[in-house]
Amino acid sequence: MRQRHSPYCSHVTVVVVGAGIAGLACARELVDAGIPAKVVEQMDTVGGRLASEQIDGRWVDTGAAYLTGDDPAFLGRLQTWRIDGLARPWTDTLRGQQGPPTVRWAAPGGLNSLARDLARELDITLGAEVTELPEADTVVLAMPGPQARKILPEAAEQDWSPVVTAILTYAERQWPDFAGAFVNDHPVLATVADDGDRRGDRAAVLVAHSTAAYARQNTDGAALAEAVGELLGISDKPEVVTRFWPYAQPKPEQGGFARYGNVFLCGDAFGRPRVQTAWLSGRAVARAIIQSTDR
Ligand SMILES: Cc1cc2nc3c(=O)[nH]c(=O)nc-3n(C[C@H](O)[C@H](O)[C@H](O)COP(=O)(O)OP(=O)(O)OC[C@H]3O[C@@H](n4cnc5c(N)ncnc54)[C@H](O)[C@@H]3O)c2cc1C
Repeated sequence: MRQRHSPYCSHVTVVVVGAGIAGLACARELVDAGIPAKVVEQMDTVGGRLASEQIDGRWVDTGAAYLTGDDPAFLGRLQTWRIDGLARPWTDTLRGQQGPPTVRWAAPGGLNSLARDLARELDITLGAEVTELPEADTVVLAMPGPQARKILPEAAEQDWSPVVTAILTYAERQWPDFAGAFVNDHPVLATVADDGDRRGDRAAVLVAHSTAAYARQNTDGAALAEAVGELLGISDKPEVVTRFWPYAQPKPEQGGFARYGNVFLCGDAFGRPRVQTAWLSGRAVARAIIQSTDR
């Protein structure tokens, strides 16, 4: 293992790099077990791809569209958020859905509010990009593999696809209620969600996600706006805000996490690319660290 030099707190036991849902779940589990963990995040906010942004003074979900769960522990987490008024079941059927009904959870305050809830009372440094392995007994890289490899080049390669998100704000709601839709076999559009419906405030805002093929060639949302207009028969032109996710969706890897000596990798690559997987992966790393300190 290379010699480590870093400005980040050499006295802490565990440094978690990345405050997405995986890193937050890991740090939360460690701290609850009495193991100090310091989290370092390059962005100015926690949550990573569990992202909501203020657009025209209103939260819009710009990354993950909703949460689903089939793991008992994660379902328990969702129920706790429900009791706390932070999450609610949204819909079990989307247009174009090919599988059985599946409960999809949304957050009235935006999905990022769930990440902020997990982050409460954790020791988190925001706006600090980590470029080399921090000095610590244990380091957790809680991020997509290509980002982790910038810090730990020996980490195995992973296969990731990009997505373009287009946030479409209309003057008024002009579409029949539909919650959201999978747009199958479209060259540009993969999904569209009614953000006013999922957030529950009936705002005239749709959020479209592109296909990976489109995002490999384009980072612009104008074509998504046009495709949504055609799909839903909307004649008005929306205001368009675009976001580009270079590492949106991984090809699933085996195992709940990866380990290189005292460095762990976790995130949604270790299973189906979902928030649940990221949360479970971060928690699994924390449990492995807790077990090793128990010996
Ligand atoms: C467009 C889109 C739609 C999606 N839809 C859904 C959905 O409907 N349902 C669902 O369950 N999932 C969905 N997902 C996937 C879901 O968002 C992810 O599975 C989950 O949020 C991943 O969490 P994570 O913690 O593993 O990674 P991330 O959220 O990517 O967190 C990694 C964090 O590490 C930080 N970081 C990276 N490098 C560094 C560095 N060098 N120094 C410091 N910090 C660093 C990043 O800034 C980021 O905050 C979607 C994702 C996208 C992009």
